[in-house]
Amino acid sequence: MNIILFGAPGAGKGTQAKRLVESRGLVQLSTGDMLRAAIEAGTELGRQAKDIMDRGDLVSDDIILGMIAERMDSPECANGVILDGFPRTVAQADGLGAMFEARGLTLNHVIEVQVDEAALFARIETRAAETGGSRADDNAETLRKRLAVYHENTAPLLPYYDGKGLLRTVDGMASIDEVGQAIDAILAS
Ligand code: AMP
Repeated sequence: MNIILFGAPGAGKGTQAKRLVESRGLVQLSTGDMLRAAIEAGTELGRQAKDIMDRGDLVSDDIILGMIAERMDSPECANGVILDGFPRTVAQADGLGAMFEARGLTLNHVIEVQVDEAALFARIETRAAETGGSRADDNAETLRKRLAVYHENTAPLLPYYDGKGLLRTVDGMASIDEVGQAIDAILAS
């Protein structure tokens, strides 16, 4: 089963993706995590991505699609993947579609975790406090930028997938367990 989890930054996609990894044996492919790992490892890609991420801008579609294609081809992904934080642009969604078609894979569900944006600021502040500010992009100023980027580049993917009959929405303001149950109900349908 292959799933896309959508949602504005701080909506709880990562938390729900990790739940699905445990309950369903799917592999979480988070482009944000991959980029942070590249920065940590000090690679050329990490060096290029760091400033872009700190500003809250998007890393180029080519780089992102290359990273995903490489991971999709690893055997661990054969059981299915949860795409978290990807695709973020129409070009990435088109690239993903082509990648799936070439590999004979099916995109089963696209789930939007919908949240109230005022609440996102509170969540991001909590995350910044809990992680000791280890993510340079976890602050109100960058969040405003990331939300603007989300609305401009990523929100158009909602009608894109709705048009394909794949989009379902869950209330991300509910508790983690309730959001998880709502997602489970969609996956069972
Ligand atoms: P995330 O952890 O998903 O919130 O991603 C953190 C940052 O990594 C984003 O603000 C972007 O700068 C970059 N990033 C992550 N995924 C993508 C993507 N699919 N396309 C472009 N940039 C991305």
